[in-house]
Amino acid sequence: MLDQIKIILCFTSHPGNIGAAARAMKTMGLSQLVLVSPKDFPSEEASARSSGALDILDNAIVVDSVEEAIKDCKLVIGTSSRSRALPWPLVEPREMVQIINEKPQARPVAILFGRESVGLLNEELQLCNYHVNIPANPEYMSLNLASAVQIISYELRLQFLNESPLKEEAFEQKDSETTATSEQVEGLYQHIEQTMMTTDFFDPENPKLLSARMRRLFAKSQLNQGEVNILRGFLASIEKYIKRKTS
Ligand code: SAH
Repeated sequence: MLDQIKIILCFTSHPGNIGAAARAMKTMGLSQLVLVSPKDFPSEEASARSSGALDILDNAIVVDSVEEAIKDCKLVIGTSSRSRALPWPLVEPREMVQIINEKPQARPVAILFGRESVGLLNEELQLCNYHVNIPANPEYMSLNLASAVQIISYELRLQFLNESPLKEEAFEQKDSETTATSEQVEGLYQHIEQTMMTTDFFDPENPKLLSARMRRLFAKSQLNQGEVNILRGFLASIEKYIKRKTS
């Protein structure tokens, strides 16, 4: 449901945009606002621009990093106004809402919004399962931050008003079947990278596209907790094996 969707504004420079985003959210029935290292917050300008959405600003959670903001989320979506070096699963806002609706087991959902100047960095986009692009004028694709929040929130609202509101998790799931959180997937990723360095498969001095490709593989797989455990168990067994052989 709408309260399971976190709107995450990353490294916002202008407090007015934070206020306007809060207003955009409230008009569409969204309430979970997370701010990653905002330049100026709390601020009078943010409060003024929020109009009657002060409650959203008061309840906003402020964190230092994107990783921290998304750690408990099971589906992470990054908004982007342009295509990036490594193609990622890319959807339009309406498809994004369908995906969210079809994965009731993947809650909470994080939707990331980038800096006014340069958007989300590649490393931040690589933490996402999907990228979403608002198909604007190809010659002028970049919306104001709060306007982008408004459009994404509106699409979520339409689904909510639709006959089939965003589905709740309909059945009890075993822990192992539960979708892994962003933090669990990150733990697996770090573990793989460590093992790859041990076996000299991965050279951190010369990462090329390997780490981005590995991240994309996990983003697309949307692993459950049991799968994360199998892979980490396998990696641990490799480490033990190497220790035995080399000691
Ligand atoms: N100049 C930046 C754009 C930043 S706009 C760039 O080149 O990336 C600020 C934020 O608004 C973006 O990071 C994104 O979160 C959102 N946004 C703006 N236009 C968008 C679009 N067409 N589709 C999706 N998100 C958009």
